[in-house]
Amino acid sequence: MKNPHREVIVLIGKPGSGKGTQAEPLAKALGIPFVSTGKLMREEIKKGTPLGKSIAADVAAGKLVDNKITALLLKRRLNKPDAKDGIIIDGSPRDLEQALILDRIAHVAHAILISITDHEVIRRISGRRICSRCGRNYHIEANRPKVDNVCDVCGGRIIHRDDDKPKIIKERLKSYREDTIPVLHYYRRLRALRRIDGLGGIKEVGKRALNAILESDKGLKFHEPRNG
Ligand SMILES: [Zn+2]
Repeated sequence: MKNPHREVIVLIGKPGSGKGTQAEPLAKALGIPFVSTGKLMREEIKKGTPLGKSIAADVAAGKLVDNKITALLLKRRLNKPDAKDGIIIDGSPRDLEQALILDRIAHVAHAILISITDHEVIRRISGRRICSRCGRNYHIEANRPKVDNVCDVCGGRIIHRDDDKPKIIKERLKSYREDTIPVLHYYRRLRALRRIDGLGGIKEVGKRALNAILESDKGLKFHEPRNG
């Protein structure tokens, strides 16, 4: 994909929508790197830079990392040679302020909304289970252990984390609505919003995301002759 303007693709969706899962294969299909803001932060913490230390302090205090720090990390990442044709970002923008900051450092060509209902979010996340010993993930519908409540790998006890229980999921959905819906309106106004159905298998949803990008790029090319 030709992308001379360092265009950025962002993935937006409720918790459990699968945006994290889709980011990497989508990036591969488009030949551009995939960037997770969470991962950029963890790398910075690991390097022990002053910036990393400040991120670690925020995380330890349970605070959200400052939007300006996220922007700085993304800006640096965008300046690397492999990002010359653009990147796919997972993890940002979560709110309108992040979207506005991102606009100052790059052009968001496509904001892919992976759309699922709240009911589906609760079904997916509340079915998650994890081994209390080795951390292996399970799901009561999609990925059951061979023996109930016992880890296939280490024999440890399988637990249901509080974060994966409906009460906490509903709280996360509430903050999604408050923070992220303004971002969707913003990208809709900019004609960058591409909404796809998030129900279905990983490959199926991935194909929808790719098609949404390619279809709207075709639209852009169609208008090219008028501009010279
Ligand atoms: Zn285990």
